[in-house]
Amino acid sequence: MIHLEDLRVATNGDLLGEVVADTFDDFCYDSRLVQPGQLFVAVKTGTGDGHQYIREAISGGAGGILCQEPPTDIRGVTTLIVEDTVMALGKWAAHILKRYNPIVIGVAGSVGKSSTKEALATVLDMRYKVYKSPASFNGRYGLPLGLSQLQPEHDIAVLELACDHFGEMAELLAITSPKVGVVTNITPTHIESLGTVENLLREKQQIVEALPEDGIAILNFDDDRVRQMRHRIRAGVFTYGQDIGGHGFGADLLAYNIQLSLEGTHFDLRHEDRRFADNYIPLLGRPHLYAALAALTVGLFFDIPLKEGLDRLTNLQSLPGRLTLLDGINGTKTIDDSFGATPASALAALDFLGELDIKNGRRIFVMGDMTELGVLSEEAHQQIGERAAEVSDLLVTRGELAASAGRAARRVGFSTKRSHIVYSHSDAVECVHTFARSGDVILVTGSPLGRMELVVKQLLAHPEDASRLPRQAVSFDQVRLERPPRPTWIELDLEATAYNVRRIKALVGPGVTVMAVVKANAYGHGAIQISTTATNNGAEWLGVASLNEALELREAGIDVPILILGYTPSWGARQALINDIAVTLYDLDVARMFARAARELRRLAVVHIKVDSGMGRLGLLPHQALSFVREAAMMDGLSLDGIFTHFSVADDPNQDAWTDKQLERFKCTLDALGEEGFHFRHIHAANSAAILTRPDSYFNMVRLGIAMHGLHPSADVPCPPDFRRTLTWKTAVAQVKTLPPGSFVSYGNTYQTESEERVAVIPVGYADGFRRSPEHWGDVLVHGKRASIIGSVTMDQTIIQVSDIPDVTVADEVVLLGRQNNEEITVEEIAHRFGAINYEVVSAIPRRVPRIM
Ligand SMILES: *Cc1c(COP(=O)(O)O)cnc(C)c1O
Repeated sequence: MIHLEDLRVATNGDLLGEVVADTFDDFCYDSRLVQPGQLFVAVKTGTGDGHQYIREAISGGAGGILCQEPPTDIRGVTTLIVEDTVMALGKWAAHILKRYNPIVIGVAGSVGKSSTKEALATVLDMRYKVYKSPASFNGRYGLPLGLSQLQPEHDIAVLELACDHFGEMAELLAITSPKVGVVTNITPTHIESLGTVENLLREKQQIVEALPEDGIAILNFDDDRVRQMRHRIRAGVFTYGQDIGGHGFGADLLAYNIQLSLEGTHFDLRHEDRRFADNYIPLLGRPHLYAALAALTVGLFFDIPLKEGLDRLTNLQSLPGRLTLLDGINGTKTIDDSFGATPASALAALDFLGELDIKNGRRIFVMGDMTELGVLSEEAHQQIGERAAEVSDLLVTRGELAASAGRAARRVGFSTKRSHIVYSHSDAVECVHTFARSGDVILVTGSPLGRMELVVKQLLAHPEDASRLPRQAVSFDQVRLERPPRPTWIELDLEATAYNVRRIKALVGPGVTVMAVVKANAYGHGAIQISTTATNNGAEWLGVASLNEALELREAGIDVPILILGYTPSWGARQALINDIAVTLYDLDVARMFARAARELRRLAVVHIKVDSGMGRLGLLPHQALSFVREAAMMDGLSLDGIFTHFSVADDPNQDAWTDKQLERFKCTLDALGEEGFHFRHIHAANSAAILTRPDSYFNMVRLGIAMHGLHPSADVPCPPDFRRTLTWKTAVAQVKTLPPGSFVSYGNTYQTESEERVAVIPVGYADGFRRSPEHWGDVLVHGKRASIIGSVTMDQTIIQVSDIPDVTVADEVVLLGRQNNEEITVEEIAHRFGAINYEVVSAIPRRVPRIM
C-alpha cells in the first residue's frame, strides 16, 4: 500500500488538481500491465519516456500518476508532480524505511542475489515477519518500486542492492541503511558501464564499509575479492564457503562432502567445532548451495540455530531460470539457467553439468550471448566455449557474441558436428532436437537480451511448465530488448527466412540440393545470419560473388560448401583452396593456375564450370564447353564437381521462349559432355524465378536468392502469398520542431514552408542507401501514418513533414521499409519510385546500418 501523504511529504511534490485517491495498491511502471487502483510512475529512461503512456495508464484504471511534467487535461486521477520521478521514488523509499523501521539486510554481488534473498527469507521466516522485495527489483529505480508492499509490522526487510553504474550503490545505501550486508561474489558484469572489475569491486564493497558497528558483513570466503573486504569493516564479519577440491577450509561456516545431482545437493556442514552431517537442499548446483550457506549464516546472526535453518532450507524453491530443473522433450532433463548469464555463472553452470553423474545420457550446453561485458566480451565467450568443449557432448551457441564460444570450442578440437553456431531460437531448438535422446541433460543459459527462455520453452516435455520460466509477462513479448548500436537499424526476422527456405526445399523436393545465394551481404540482410539460418533449414550450399564474401563466412565458422559464382583470379587460388571454397571456372589459363596451386598445397580445387547459354555474361559459350572440359579434366588437382548456367529472363513469363532456348542449349551441352563420359555431381540453372515457375530447370541443384527473403523475383513472378519478409528497416526521430512560414529546409533551399510546419529530423541519409537522387524514398511511416520527405536527403539525415501526425516526439520509431500498424512501405514500392528493382534497394543498404535479430 502506498499512501499519498508519505509520497508528498517525502518528495515535496506538487499535487495537481483534486485528490481523487489517496492510497494506491501498488506502483505501475508499464502502462500495458496497469491494474485499477495503482499509481503509475512516469519515468524517463534511456529507452523511452513513460510520460507518453500516461493516457494509456489512466484508461487502464490507474488511480494516480507520479510524473515530472503535468499531463494536459487530466481529470479523475490524483496527480503528483515531482522534479525527477526516480529520485522521488528513492526519497519515498528512504522515508517509509525510516518510518516502519525494519532491520534491513542488503544483498549485493554480481550474481546470485535473488536466490540468496529467497534463501534468507526462507530461513528467517519462521521467527520473524520478513519482507522481501520481488526478484530483481534491485537498482536505483527498481528497489523503491519493490517496497510497495512493506508494512509497519515487518521486522526485517531483505533487499537486493545492485549497481550497474557509478554512484548507484551509494544512493541505495543512503536509502536503505542496511544493518546486515551479504556479498555473494564479485565477477565481471556490467563492464561496459563500470570499465573494470576493480571499479565494480570499489562500488560494491561500499555495502560493507557502510555497515554500522553493531551490524555484520556476511562474506563469501571462496571469492578472493569478497574475502578481502574483511579488512575494511567496522561491523562484525562472518564468512561462508564450500570445500572445492580441498580449498576453502578457512570459512566460518563450511560445506564439505558436497554431492551435486539432479535431485538436489547433499552436503555436510562445519561451524566452529561442530559438524552437521547429511544435509540437503532440493536445489541444483554450487550457486544455490552458496545461497543456502549465506542464509544459514544470517540465521545465526538472528539466533536461528543451524539445525532449524537447515530444516527450513529443505523447502527451498528455485526461482525461474536459475539452474531450474524441468522435464525436457524425449525423456531428457532440462536445466533452465536462462534468467541471466555472466562468465562466472556460466562457468558455474558448466561445472555443475560436468560434475553430474549421468548414467546413460549426454551433456548438452546451449548458450546465448552474454552482454555488457565490454572489452572482456570476446575472451569471456571464448573461455566458456573452451570449457564447454571439455564438459559437454554438444554445444549450441545462439547469437553473434555466443558464436565466439562456438568457434573457440572448435579451435580446441570440438568437431563441427558437436558445435553448432546459430542465430535464431528455433535453429537452436532444432539442433538440440536432432541430437537429444532419453537420458540426456540439456543446460540452457544466456543474458536476458538473448531471451534463451524461448529456447527452453520449446524443449519442455510439459508445455504448462512454461509458467516456470523467466520473463513470461506479456510485456516481454511486445518489447524488443535488444538496443541497436545506432538509432537506424534493420530488424531481421530469421524465423521468416527459415520458413521460406523450408518452403523452397519442400517445393524442389528431396532430390534437389538448395544453394542459398548470399552475395552482397545476403542482399543487404546480413550474410552470416542468413547463411546460418538457410543452412539450418534445408540449404546445403552457399553461393557468393567473390572470395572475400566466402572468407567472411568461413571466419564466422560456417563450414558448409561454398561456391564463388563470380570471377576468382588465380592469385586468390591459395586462399580459396585453404578455406575449402569452390570456384567457378571458364578460362583455361586460370584453371591451370588453380590446378597448380592445388598440387602445391596437396589439396583438390573443387570447380564448377560456367556455361553462358544466352545471358551473355560470365561463362563458356556452349560450343567452347567441350574442349574446355576435355583439357580441364586432365589437370591434376582439379575436381570437376559441377556445371551451371544462368537465366536472363526467368522472371518474365512473356519471354518463356528464351528461357526454353537457354535450357535447351544447356541440356545439349550436358549431352555432348555425357557422350564423352563427362558427368558432374552438381548441375544447376534455376534462380528464384525459375524455382517458382520452371520445375524443368531444377536438374539436381537450384540457386535461391531473392525469394529466400520473401521478396518477389518480379511483379510477374511473385513469391507464394505465405512467404514472409525477413527485413524491416527502422530509424527513430532525432528532433521535432515547428518552422515558421517561409523557412527553408535542407541543402539547396529546395523546400520552403508556406505556412507554419511541423517537421521531424530522422538520422538516416544517402550513405545508408536511403537514396537522395534522382528520386528519394518519398514517404516513411510514423505512428502508423505516412510522412513525406521534404528538402534534399543529406548524407546522414533527412527531414520529414509531420504536421498532420499528432504527438510525434524524439525517439519515436520510424519505419523506412516494412509495416507499422496498418501501413506498409514495401521494397517494391520504393524500387518502383527509383525505376529500380527490389534487389537493388535492399542490397544497397550498407553495413553501417546494424542488423539485429
Ligand atoms: C544472384 C544469383 C542468383 C540468385 O538469383 P535470385 O534471382 O536472387 O534468386 C543465382 N545465380 C547466380 C549466378 C547469381 O548471380
